[in-house]
Amino acid sequence: MLNILRIPVLQDNYIWLVNEPISGATAVIDPALAEPVLEAAQIHGWHITHILNTHWHPDHVGGNAAIKAATGCHIIGPLAEHDKITAIDETVIDGDIVELGKVTARVIDVPGHTAGHNAYYFADNCALFCGDTLFAMGCGRLFEGTATEMWQSLAKLSSLPDDTQVYCAHEYTLSNGKFALHVDGGNQALIERMAEVVAKRVSNIATIPTTMALERATNPFLLAKNVDEFAARRIAKDSFKG
Ligand SMILES: [Zn+2]
Repeated sequence: MLNILRIPVLQDNYIWLVNEPISGATAVIDPALAEPVLEAAQIHGWHITHILNTHWHPDHVGGNAAIKAATGCHIIGPLAEHDKITAIDETVIDGDIVELGKVTARVIDVPGHTAGHNAYYFADNCALFCGDTLFAMGCGRLFEGTATEMWQSLAKLSSLPDDTQVYCAHEYTLSNGKFALHVDGGNQALIERMAEVVAKRVSNIATIPTTMALERATNPFLLAKNVDEFAARRIAKDSFKG
């Protein structure tokens, strides 16, 4: 099993700290910052051995250099974005296997938000780290990729098992849910989910991780009938004022 710790930073980012207890190997997923990560690792007695970056955006790699300087950890990120990822040691492409102590993650290429965006899937642990590709009831903005690319990327993730825990990089659930209700207001599973999300956010409780089953039932981007509907929803979301 893995110990997975959520570290909330900045406005709405989540950094994930993943500890494999048998070997002690510990990975940071998308460190926006270094200090809160080093502090959390110290509190838990974990030594950071790896950083896994999903994409190059500063709020996902900002802590790379300082964490590496403090721990000597090994930094892994997508080949297509290697020149934009600070202090990167190893590049990976779709299908590569990343070892973290006794467990492994498969690299899934999910372009759309950025051109080289990766996800890391720990199949035996039912854990997916998907950066800014799939969010709870939402998906990443299309900064570098096309709607077709994102649609295909989401289809890859959506093919993972129901019980997959989805660890995305932002707490966008409440605003995503408002848009979801706007386009799919008759969806009973969505209505019920939003009632829970609203209650949690009032108390500042995190809504991540989500699960693939929940996303398939309520995420308007996974529920789009085809790529055209997906693209229209993505454009509508960009200017949606909930
Ligand atoms: Zn991003």
